Amino acid sequence: MDFEDTPEEAEFRAEVRAWLEANAPKNASANAFSADLNEKEALKIAKEWQAKKAEARYAKITWPREIGGMGGTPIQNVIYSQEEAKFNLPGGFFDIGLGMCIPTLLTHGTPEQAERYTRPALYGEEIWCQLFSEPAAGSDLAGIRTRAEKDGDEWVVNGQKIWTSGAHYSDYGILVTRSNPDVPKHKGLTFFFLDMKTPGVEVKPIKQISGGANFNEVYFTDVRIPDSQRLGAEGDGWKVSLTTLMNERAAIGGGGGALGTDELLKLFRGIEMHDGPAINNMAVRERLADWYVQGQGLKYTRFRSLTALSKGQTPGPENSIGKAVSAPRGQDYTSFALELMELGGMITDPDLAPLKAGFQSGWLFAPAMRIAGGTDEILKNIIAERVLGLPGEIRVDKDTPFNELPTGH
Ligand SMILES: Cc1cc2nc3c(=O)[nH]c(=O)nc-3n(C[C@H](O)[C@H](O)[C@H](O)COP(=O)(O)OP(=O)(O)OC[C@H]3O[C@@H](n4cnc5c(N)ncnc54)[C@H](O)[C@@H]3O)c2cc1C
Repeated sequence: MDFEDTPEEAEFRAEVRAWLEANAPKNASANAFSADLNEKEALKIAKEWQAKKAEARYAKITWPREIGGMGGTPIQNVIYSQEEAKFNLPGGFFDIGLGMCIPTLLTHGTPEQAERYTRPALYGEEIWCQLFSEPAAGSDLAGIRTRAEKDGDEWVVNGQKIWTSGAHYSDYGILVTRSNPDVPKHKGLTFFFLDMKTPGVEVKPIKQISGGANFNEVYFTDVRIPDSQRLGAEGDGWKVSLTTLMNERAAIGGGGGALGTDELLKLFRGIEMHDGPAINNMAVRERLADWYVQGQGLKYTRFRSLTALSKGQTPGPENSIGKAVSAPRGQDYTSFALELMELGGMITDPDLAPLKAGFQSGWLFAPAMRIAGGTDEILKNIIAERVLGLPGEIRVDKDTPFNELPTGH
């Protein structure tokens, strides 16, 4: 691929940069995982910024203009993200809604539903969450147990979801349920969207190691959902879930930490070891070289995806390599950085720790990155089976009725 912008891309980049310079809020590092603002405050700033972006049609560049997008290309989207990343801007609250839930609604909902829900999500007025994972079903999502039973024009839902990011501030959610346990696991699922204020929905925050509580357990007790809020046919919930998961993979795919080798260099120059600055220590340099090489590999792999996008192709399963490498790499170097800081590594106050405590917060979030959007092992399975063509995992439960699967009870 040609790494330089074409004249049209350069023009778009200049436009974006000028707009960001004129409009981006100053000093507002308000994102869904920020430690230096309370969540309510961060959410308020993020909503204001989202409305501004939507007004200028930057909120969803590749969406058609009729639904509030810019009708732009994936490359323009990448250019916008690259420029936006240079500013410390609010974010993280709308990604699930705009990246996964609304695209699923647009594919499987009615035109009236698309019209009703798209604009408020785009402008940050309504937030969505994804109610998929359960205590006994994450990687094996088709093993979910939350039950949906039909009652006239409504469904009655009972069960529990877990790890639901943002459920505590979300207005709506997409939900996958088991409506028929008598058929094999992938065939008995039905998919809905629902108002998170529906009676019987109870959201309980999960406290994380970082001190925050970004995700939740969500309990459903006799929750009534109108049949009109079913997405896809009864029993076709797996197919609908795949729409969401494909969008999730595209959204998380690149997954890199906010800090990279430049920040490591800065840190290692500032740390004094017994024989001088850490940057001169051969053991430190050796580790740094490894992370640099991995970083370059990630960069050029991203360029390969960009090449596919610029040719109008969709990046395929090979994209899984991005997070499979970047998530363990992030955990590795943040952990090393903290060790080098010695006792200073324990300081999490952004005003006191080097680089605004980026290594501390990165280290605390690193394990989550190895799980969210596909665990390391699942990504490696995808690469093995779908990229390298190795034999598939043996899936003994694929054709057995769900209620005949052994549960361990
Ligand atoms: C930050 C974060 C945000 C999240 N947000 C949401 C959200 O908004 N909504 C939502 O629904 N979920 C969310 N999740 C949940 C996430 O999707 C699941 O945690 C993930 O799919 C893994 O499922 P699990 O936790 O049940 O682990 P399991 O699937 O039980 O896995 C346990 C271990 O077994 C390994 N394993 C499982 N299957 C295989 C296999 N076939 N081969 C080899 N090894 C295997 C896994 O790699 C892992 O190490 C979030 C998770 C995180 C960390």
